[in-house]
Amino acid sequence: MKILFYDSKSYDKESFSAALKNYPQIEAEFLDTDISLSTVSLAKGYEAVCIFVASAADAAVISALADQGVRLLLLRCAGYNNVDLAAAEKAGITVMRVPGYSPEAVAEHAAALLLSVNRKIHKAYIRVRENNFSLSGLTGLTLHGRCAGIVGTGRIGAAMCSICRGLGMKVIAYDKYPSRDLDYVEYVSLDELFRRSDVISLHCPLLDDTYHMINIDSIRKMRDGVILVNTSRGALIKTEDLIQGIREHKFSGVGLDVYEEENENVFENREDDILEHSTTARLLSFPNVIVTSHQGFLTEEALEAISRTTLDNAVSFYEGKPISENIVHR
Ligand code: NAD
Repeated sequence: MKILFYDSKSYDKESFSAALKNYPQIEAEFLDTDISLSTVSLAKGYEAVCIFVASAADAAVISALADQGVRLLLLRCAGYNNVDLAAAEKAGITVMRVPGYSPEAVAEHAAALLLSVNRKIHKAYIRVRENNFSLSGLTGLTLHGRCAGIVGTGRIGAAMCSICRGLGMKVIAYDKYPSRDLDYVEYVSLDELFRRSDVISLHCPLLDDTYHMINIDSIRKMRDGVILVNTSRGALIKTEDLIQGIREHKFSGVGLDVYEEENENVFENREDDILEHSTTARLLSFPNVIVTSHQGFLTEEALEAISRTTLDNAVSFYEGKPISENIVHR
């Protein structure tokens, strides 16, 4: 079986090359370039292509892939909002993903953003490097005893609940389908979560009903001085409204691993670019905002698990018994 990897970075090549030693039936080619209408012809002769979160597999790309003979679209990630599933179904292309490679990795990154933005580690790091040992402006909250509001208690959200509990926080949550396993978590309505939480961390998927769930109306329901963390998907938050909320001094901190405009930036070095008209640049201008570049998944363990499951997905499809829980349906 031949798989073409689009948008592959050094860490993808390393982790997949190591895993491929155990899959002699798979031949892989790694491309730096991302998938698009102008690069889809490179997939001719491959049964499967593999893409990541920022690749746009829209209807036109999917139909062009089918024309090249591709039958399997492998997502080396959990989210699938970048794929036109209706187009894939119509084109007869099976879409498979890696649902839960290392939920703890993403939750730990959410916690890192929370702790950093709360204790102003991003500012302290730079100050001390400039021989400035003053503490003014660095006051944070003691999280112990405060209330964490977790939106979405699936695999990652549950791991975040456990971390917040470990910090001594009261954990409340909102999920359309509450979990029976989290007996220490109090499930509340979304409005109550906004009202009560000192920290809000987003872990639900991006769907029609979660698009822009954080907007100026929901922001105004939140407590003053709340900390907001998003490691899920950028469009859960309406960025313009977030910026308005930051300007209105609603937040003591905001930690974003994902944001609406990220697709042009993620995993690229744009240090010589001038980001004109960019909401990213505006977000970065605020002293109480930390932005990372969609790196929640980036641990050795997660990369290894992603490689293994992606290749297992390919083999199972090739053998005519695709792992059903990893198939993405419309
Ligand atoms: P999951 O499917 O295990 O959990 C999602 C939870 O959200 C489920 O419990 C579901 O019931 C709940 N949910 C669904 N609709 C909801 C709604 N309208 N309101 C509230 N909750 C709702 O998914 P997961 O593995 O925990 O991943 C969560 C998200 O994290 C993914 O959708 C993905 O976007 C994101 N993610 C980010 C990174 C990163 O590197 N930053 C890595 C992996 C995943």
